[in-house]
Amino acid sequence: MNESVLDQEPEEFRKAAHAAVDWIVDYLQNVDSRPVLSRDRPGDLSRRLPDGPTDHGRTLDELLAVFDTAVMPGITHWNHPAFFAYFAITGSRAGILGEMLSAALNVNGMLWKTSPAATELETIVLDRLRGLFGLPVGLFGIINDTASINTFLALCAAREALGFDIRSKGMTGRALPQFRIYCSDQSHSSVEKAALALGFGATGVTKIGSDASFSMDSSALWKAVSEDRANGIVPCAVVATVGTTSTAAVDPVRRIGETAREAAMWLHVDAAYGGSATIDPEFRGLWDGIEAADSIVVNPHKWLFTPVDCSVLWTSRPDVLRETFSLVPEYLRTDAGEVIDYMDYGLQLGRRFRALKLWLVLEHYGTDHLRQVIRHHVDLAARLARELTSRENIELLAPQSLGVVVFRRLVRGADGVIDEVASRARTEDLLAEMNESGRLFVSHTILRGRYGIRVAIGNGATTWAQVGRILEFL
Ligand code: PLP
Repeated sequence: MNESVLDQEPEEFRKAAHAAVDWIVDYLQNVDSRPVLSRDRPGDLSRRLPDGPTDHGRTLDELLAVFDTAVMPGITHWNHPAFFAYFAITGSRAGILGEMLSAALNVNGMLWKTSPAATELETIVLDRLRGLFGLPVGLFGIINDTASINTFLALCAAREALGFDIRSKGMTGRALPQFRIYCSDQSHSSVEKAALALGFGATGVTKIGSDASFSMDSSALWKAVSEDRANGIVPCAVVATVGTTSTAAVDPVRRIGETAREAAMWLHVDAAYGGSATIDPEFRGLWDGIEAADSIVVNPHKWLFTPVDCSVLWTSRPDVLRETFSLVPEYLRTDAGEVIDYMDYGLQLGRRFRALKLWLVLEHYGTDHLRQVIRHHVDLAARLARELTSRENIELLAPQSLGVVVFRRLVRGADGVIDEVASRARTEDLLAEMNESGRLFVSHTILRGRYGIRVAIGNGATTWAQVGRILEFL
């Protein structure tokens, strides 16, 4: 037996790990009885946590008890079936198993050689997922932590693809034109953050207006690009969103792709949320025009039942991504031959074995069941939207799309005209009342100046029993 100098009580771990698994099983079965939102105030945890670490440590048993009494009250339950804020997510049982096994192996998949199966499972599972989503054959996939990072990496490649040799010459001390990234006024803030990090500045992003459904106005894009080119500005990339953050709106990828091709700029598709729906052929239309994409991001940690973190970047131009990032110091050279070393396709060197949990999720649930659950979420959102529109004093602020519904409480003056200020105040009160109840958790957005309650349905345990709670507050 292999005795560890650090862990001198292996049987203690067995006992604690069994207890932790029991705890996890009970937690997942009973999470609906907990208040969704933590009621902690800033600093509460430090008042509950015992001083430490002590000179001689504590038993795992003791620490599990501290976790339960001190840490748990400060937890907001993202794995709660009545969690409807931001984007509802799921740490599924299969996914949790994947996290446990990958923590035990603790491999670093920076190179093929540092764990061949970690690299190869990533390649295999991403190609299977690509097929399940109906995406074009031949896309190169890589898993990173978040969509924000994947969008940044894609836009770095877009900048390199412009042909100004920024990789070797940099961007300072020489004359360069202004570069521009385009996205809609509904795009996620990660696009602007990427532009900041790329050295384009906040003014390096042009936000194109959106239509009544909050989809990018593709003719306004064309106009903006044409004007910029006439003024010597170089279009670098356009980001189309499939499932925007506020309303799950879908940009017209095909028309945006035509402008991208005409202007020789990179098309990045942010399908961080909406992409997972395309596992169901009913939603494949979301990809209309996707063959023009240079890169696509989808977050299985949003709507594909995979624990945080797991974000997939596919690109049709892996050569450009590699030219942007590959840098191999002597100590990382290997004799492995023609293999993928994922460190060549991004900033980070070390990488977690995230493919394991994604593989377990896809293989365990199977495609039929995954499709059914996604469709169930969309059906719940549609039912909620119908119920809301049947009420006189409620207005939907956007068409229901995928699992997202945005609504507000209306207050009218004596003349029957909507009182905007009072409507906002009543809607804010309603949101506070819902969240303080502990029975559900919703977040908000502002659309064309109107404040709305935003409901995102996406947890694997959610049924109408939880969604219907929203109506009890109206
Ligand atoms: N893109 C969209 C459309 C999003 O809604 C979000 C987050 O909600 C992101 C990107 C960023 O995702 P991540 O948290 O993985 O960086």
